[in-house]
Amino acid sequence: MSVTKCPGCGLELPDRGRAERMNASQACWELYGELAAYTLARGRDFLHQYGVDAYQAQHALPGASGITIAFSLLGLYLAMERGSTGLQVQRAHMALAREKIETPRFDPPREAARLTVRDVLNAEPGDARDAALKEWCAAVWESWRHAQAWTRHFCEERLAGSFSRRVRSR
Ligand SMILES: [Zn+2]
Repeated sequence: MSVTKCPGCGLELPDRGRAERMNASQACWELYGELAAYTLARGRDFLHQYGVDAYQAQHALPGASGITIAFSLLGLYLAMERGSTGLQVQRAHMALAREKIETPRFDPPREAARLTVRDVLNAEPGDARDAALKEWCAAVWESWRHAQAWTRHFCEERLAGSFSRRVRSR
C-alpha cells in the first residue's frame, strides 16, 4: 500500500486520499476519529475540546477563515496558559460565537508541531493518554508562536469584559 504524508501534521500513513474539510490525509483524520471516541467517552470536564482545538489548529486549511483558526488558538491558549478545562473553553467559544469578532489572516506554522494525534493514541488509555493529549496541545500551541501575541491580547481584552463574567458565572 502506498504511503502519504498528512499535509497538516506530517504523519506518514497509508494513502486513503484527503479528508474533506481539513488540511489532513484521510488516514490521519481517521486516527483523530479514534481519539475523539476516547475523549468523548472519557468525560473529564469535556477533555474532548482539547483534542478538537489541537487537531484543528494543526490541520487548518490554508484558505480557512481567520475565525476558525482563532477559535482553535483561543482554546489552546485558555487550556495551556490559563489552565481552563475543556468545558470552560467550550463556554468561552459559545460566548464568543455571539459576538462580532475581527481576526487577522493567520499564516499556518512553517514547521509542524513535534507531536501528532498518533503520539496521543500511542499512550495508554487513562491518565497517561490524558497527559499525552495535553503535551500535544502544548506542542501545537508552540508551533503557532507567531500568533500567540494576538491570541493573548485578544483574550486579555475579552476576559476583562462581559465575556469572562458570562463564562465564570456558569
Ligand atoms: Zn495529520
